[in-house]
Amino acid sequence: MTVGWLEAEGDLAALGAAMHALVVRLYPICRSITGPGVRETLRLVREMVPLELHEVASGTEVFDWAVPREWSIRDAWVKDPHGRKVIDFRRSNLHVVSYSRPVRARMSLTELRPHLSSLPDRPRWIPYRTTYYAENWGFCLSHEVLERFEEGEYEVCIDASLDDGSLTYGELLVPGASDDEVLISCHVCHPSLCNDNLSGIAVATYLARLLSSRPRRYSYRFLFVPGTIGSITWLCRNESRVDRIRHGLVLTCIGDPGGFTYKRSRRGDAVIDRAAAHVLRHQDRPVELRDFSPYGYDERQYCSPGFDLPVGCLMRSPHGEFPQYHTSADDPDFVRAEALAQSLAVCASVAAVLEGDGAYVNTSPKGEPRLGKRGIYRAVGGGLDSRSAEMALLWVLNLSDGRHSLLDVAERSALPFESVRRAADTLLQHGLLRESAPASSRPQHHGREGGA
Ligand code: ZN
Repeated sequence: MTVGWLEAEGDLAALGAAMHALVVRLYPICRSITGPGVRETLRLVREMVPLELHEVASGTEVFDWAVPREWSIRDAWVKDPHGRKVIDFRRSNLHVVSYSRPVRARMSLTELRPHLSSLPDRPRWIPYRTTYYAENWGFCLSHEVLERFEEGEYEVCIDASLDDGSLTYGELLVPGASDDEVLISCHVCHPSLCNDNLSGIAVATYLARLLSSRPRRYSYRFLFVPGTIGSITWLCRNESRVDRIRHGLVLTCIGDPGGFTYKRSRRGDAVIDRAAAHVLRHQDRPVELRDFSPYGYDERQYCSPGFDLPVGCLMRSPHGEFPQYHTSADDPDFVRAEALAQSLAVCASVAAVLEGDGAYVNTSPKGEPRLGKRGIYRAVGGGLDSRSAEMALLWVLNLSDGRHSLLDVAERSALPFESVRRAADTLLQHGLLRESAPASSRPQHHGREGGA
């Protein structure tokens, strides 16, 4: 795949390796929807991009929800009747059900059993479970270990606390020429899970770096939020300014080697839906386009009817549809540097479409203008691409009546957006196009309240 900005494949490979290294670095941290794990994660991300960290106090009402108490965990284990640690949080943070209340007790296997989760059909993997909004406790373990448990008295310890504290989220505004925004959101609340959580964080971080180094029309707002409660909290605190969001993407499960999946926004025909579909159709991997459904990640909140923002969700293998999902097998080996690099390239290409889109007017619309006498055919050259470059010129001239955008032209011609944009630039240079007045008068924002 070629993106104007990512010319050298060497660059892309190096970016893939760097994103994978970030995944490996973040992997051991025990994240949850609140607590020190999220803070540590965001602090590491802040070494790479100037993220602003926000803290919102427990108990704060956010629409129909309240910010929960803060969960901290120091240690957890189960000892068998011989005093051997048969479950040890220090070996894998998936062993403890996230948000478990503190426990210190002795009990029989029969009493312990309802608090244990395993995967009989994947006996070597540890499942990932949470108990965010119901006070409970539990452990997760591989089924093969569970099957070796004998009857007798077990000792259980969860050294954790659930206290008033705060919810942490990260926000980064990469300002552009306009106050109109593109929202990029990822969740940061899963513990040692790579595709579901860390892949989105890695791609969002490197996309922010990439966009920061390029001229931009749009401002890009990156959110690193705990799932559901984090996006609801952000929406509640920023309700008055969400009308700046013109386009948005939730990034998740974006580092596995599977083909791409794009879930459309609730609107279904937003420019982001069309731009993502266009880019994905023009790359060389399998693609599945899905309509919106009110299930999944934070697009559920951005696309709730009170907001209905044009935010889609970009994934590779969708959540719940790959066996490693929410298990210890969603590890650093499952996520690949090459896949992360392709995902970053797709995101950059989508941004390039958003940045390069526009509507123009053909200044010589009566009959086709003669391109030869202006030297435009010669400029196009006689190479293999010359036919499609010529077609792009003809399509742009034909559809540039002020009502069609360049994305319309790309869709209708089935040409890559890059070729269409290049043709428009050539025609602009020769005075055969002029910019069309903005299609709609958008609300104007004055000043920028950056990264609040
Ligand atoms: Zn998940």
